[in-house]
Amino acid sequence: MKNMPGISLIEITCEKCKKTYEADSIEHIDLSEDQELIKNLKAGKANRVQCPKCKKVMYLDRSIVINFEPQSLIAVYDPQAKTDEKKEELRREYDNIIAFNEILTELAEETEFKVISSLGELKVLLDEYAKVYM
Ligand SMILES: [Zn+2]
Repeated sequence: MKNMPGISLIEITCEKCKKTYEADSIEHIDLSEDQELIKNLKAGKANRVQCPKCKKVMYLDRSIVINFEPQSLIAVYDPQAKTDEKKEELRREYDNIIAFNEILTELAEETEFKVISSLGELKVLLDEYAKVYM
């Protein structure tokens, strides 16, 4: 897992016992390659980490970019992005990233970009994807 693109090792401090440990953080998922992650995503368990000392479970406060390849859809799932303002901020970040990359700019012209904060909405998209492509 650790060498897969889209996953980085980050340092976490347990909110209960304050122990510091390392865990994988998922930042990017390409559904055409990482289909085993769909189950975790749907269960709301993506970026779930557990303290090795006291077993406290925490959910990382991070957004996940999901590429619905071969559908022309890229979604950012961020449970914190509940307001239009926050959604707009994520969209601007996306626009900034693609603006500096010729290949991505071309891709983006034919790709829909969505910001999703609701797990229910994400599940609907994943179910539709699974029905057609898995
Ligand atoms: Zn702990």
